[in-house]
Parts: sequence; structure tokens; C-alpha cells
Amino acid sequence: MSKEPARCTNISSLWEPFRRKVERLLERMRGRGFDPIIFEAARSRQRQEWLYGVGRTHHKGRKPVTWTMTSRHLVGKAADIVSKSRGWDWPEFFDALKSEASRLGLETIPQEGCHVQWR
Ligand SMILES: [Zn+2]
Repeated sequence: MSKEPARCTNISSLWEPFRRKVERLLERMRGRGFDPIIFEAARSRQRQEWLYGVGRTHHKGRKPVTWTMTSRHLVGKAADIVSKSRGWDWPEFFDALKSEASRLGLETIPQEGCHVQWR
């Protein structure tokens, strides 16, 4: 098993028009009393390949974490957002994230509650 390539949490790694929407999304979430943080922003191809291998060629103590090699994270058009205090363990947080993302014209995916992407 190879070492996990670093995860980028820097919002400025995102494609500019998407970054502006993500900033508004974070503001709206904070306005609803949540504590959103970026878990992952843009992703290198090397990291995408590593993640694709999770649950297939190696394990990270969990199920496969990505379903594709053509993730929009690669071009800075996707971000994963979680709660700073509770991580993934807050269903209401992810319900709110989904509805606020949709109001901003962003897409979410059923497999991953934390993932938002440019349409
Ligand atoms: Zn994602």
C-alpha cells in the first residue's frame, strides 16, 4: 500500500466561479447555525488514483471512497464540506448543505452527502 497523498483543504485551489459559490454556501450554512469546513477542495491526479484504489487495491478502514477517475475535484469544480465539530455525524447538517447547494445552483450526489460540485 502506498502512502496517502496529501489532502488539499484550501478554498483558493478551486476554480474561481465555483469558489465564489462555495464561499456563499459556507456563509449560508453558518447563517443556519452550522460550522462548515472544507474537508477537501481540488485534488491531484496522484491523490485521485490513490483514493480510487481504496477498497480495491488497498484500504483505509472503510468502503471505497470514490467511484470514478474523472472526479470534478481534479479540475477544482468539486468540494467536500463537513461539520467542524461533528464531521460526518450530523444528518441535519447534510440536509441543509444539500438544500443550500441546490439554491445556489450547485449539484450534490446521493453517494456522498459532503460533496458539492459545479453543474
Ligand atoms: Zn467529493
